[in-house]
Amino acid sequence: MGALRGSEQRRYDVAIVGAGFAGMYMLHRARSAGFTAVVFERGSGVGGTWYWNRYPGARCDVPSLEYSYQFSDDLQQEWEWSEKYATQPEILRYAEHVADRFDLRRDMVFDTEVLSMQWRDDSWLVSTRRITEPAGAVHGDDSSTIAARFVVLATGCLSSANKPRFPDDHRFAGHTYHTGAWPKDGVDFSGQRVAVIGTGSSGIQSVPMIATEAAHLTVLQRTPAYSVPARNQKMDPQYVAGVKANYKEFRRKNSLTRAALGGDTPTGPHGANEVGDDERRAALEARWQKGGLLFLGAFNDALTNPESNRLIADFVRDKIRSIVRDSDTARKLVPESIIGCKRLCVDTDYYDTFNRPNVSLIDLRETPIERFTEKGIMLGNTEHQFDAIVFATGFDAMTGAISKIEITGRDGLSLRDAWSAGPVNYLGLGVHGFPNLFTITGPGSPSVLTNMIVSIEHHVEWIADCLTWMSNNGKTTIEVQADAQEHWVQHVNTVAGMTLYTSCSSWYLGANVPGKPRVFMPLPGFPAYAQRCADVAQNGYVGFQT
Ligand code: FAD
Ligand code: NAP
Repeated sequence: MGALRGSEQRRYDVAIVGAGFAGMYMLHRARSAGFTAVVFERGSGVGGTWYWNRYPGARCDVPSLEYSYQFSDDLQQEWEWSEKYATQPEILRYAEHVADRFDLRRDMVFDTEVLSMQWRDDSWLVSTRRITEPAGAVHGDDSSTIAARFVVLATGCLSSANKPRFPDDHRFAGHTYHTGAWPKDGVDFSGQRVAVIGTGSSGIQSVPMIATEAAHLTVLQRTPAYSVPARNQKMDPQYVAGVKANYKEFRRKNSLTRAALGGDTPTGPHGANEVGDDERRAALEARWQKGGLLFLGAFNDALTNPESNRLIADFVRDKIRSIVRDSDTARKLVPESIIGCKRLCVDTDYYDTFNRPNVSLIDLRETPIERFTEKGIMLGNTEHQFDAIVFATGFDAMTGAISKIEITGRDGLSLRDAWSAGPVNYLGLGVHGFPNLFTITGPGSPSVLTNMIVSIEHHVEWIADCLTWMSNNGKTTIEVQADAQEHWVQHVNTVAGMTLYTSCSSWYLGANVPGKPRVFMPLPGFPAYAQRCADVAQNGYVGFQT
């Protein structure tokens, strides 16, 4: 679809913001149910996360046979992943294939940002502007407004880059990059002195790759993260054939786990402090050798029992010390915090990279960033010179992309105001005061605590079914009731409060963005949540006013 220009105002049943996995499937599902739909995407193509995060080493950390759509059996049978954890280019090719296969692009408007939305009478007025990457420059008055009965925000939980400011950062004359907005043509670090700020998943994936290219790499770490080995491998054709022969059952088992992944490797039946030292070590070693996020599932109380958590963390701390040869570097890399409280990282050779002669680690808690200079960064009293600085500093997660849009609901209520003390909603799907507006994998739903494609498909299907139900029952508007929202917010707090998730300053809590209200945003536990959503629908969308 070409750009929507000038004063031309079109009407759609559904406007969708974002062309990542959520927006793509929402479009397909809405169209299949007979609704007219349009997608606005600020990038020039589909893929969302996998369109923007082109940094070296970017790949999924949920196995690709799971980190892929299941809505079409033909699609999941025909697509061949080359590695257990596919790289960003391969996942982007997959997204592009899906767009072609389901003819999605004809209803997508790229290079177009949704700036604002206003609820008027019975529909949303959605205002957009054309943008040009990478500068985000506006083309003259290239703005447009469309009307839509429903809006679905498929804007992504990790799509609004967090680029912290440092004193004099404008003075730096070299190149700066953010992992979440990486140049399409890639970056050649050969022979360069490179700094990476940040040691979350993006830093941990990119550091080993940049280290092999750069003359020298300096990793600037504020908080050490826990990372477990991926043990990535070429896809085993026999394993793939086994999964494909019974894909439906494989998917069903995954959906019954808390994080909607790894159904073939169930969580251990014991708590970590219920077994002896040898048994515990053996169980953790087996998971460490297997690799991946399911490491934390060796025991059933990793994220509920502080003592068990400490025992598991001790195991990883010992592993780090055994890999990193320089004891001072190892000391800095060893985290003291609750393991799994911040999202667990999955790496290939991260810790071993610090054994390379061209890699050094700066602990910013000991040697803070004082200011940027023309040639580099003042760390403590010493200027370190760099040709390039990589910000692996994460995202304004879960609410960032939504809050950037000026959303005005019923009676002039602004979503920014409604969420000023942190996001509130019902089921993570809708907000009181904002009729006919849905969020996909929004705060208040399992979202980022799961294999996100499962959560995305679940939300898309729930929303599409809701639209069909409304249409069949002559309903034109749907809005969350105030008391249902209040109870849901309490429920999310109660469930989160039973875990150790709330005990550290993570992006789940908004703690990585200065000034952001601290509210634990996702809801732990996929199966119970999915059941609740099904019950709500079966009972005539209880909690919603229609
Ligand atoms: P996104 O893919 O983020 O897409 C949202 C789109 O909305 C973006 O393209 C954005 O440009 C667009 N958009 C936002 N605001 C506007 C606006 N105002 N106007 C127009 N367009 C807008 N999850 C997993 O489960 N497993 C993994 O292994 C995994 N790996 C990840 C690796 C990285 C590097 C990152 C950053 C995230 C990873 N995730 C992973 C989470 C990942 O974000 C989700 O799995 C999934 O891709 C999200 O899809 P989405 O469509 O919801 O959002
Ligand atoms: P992140 O986990 O938020 O990590 C950001 C890093 O930057 C942290 O180490 C943080 O330190 C540091 N940082 C932030 N602001 C800073 C400042 N002002 N000064 C110094 N350091 C600063 O972000 P991310 O690594 O991009 O990952 C975000 C999420 O995306 C992940 O948790 C995961 O869900 C997803 N992801 C997945 C993969 C994958 O393996 N498939 C890869 C990348 C991302 P502090 O900890 O001290 O705040």
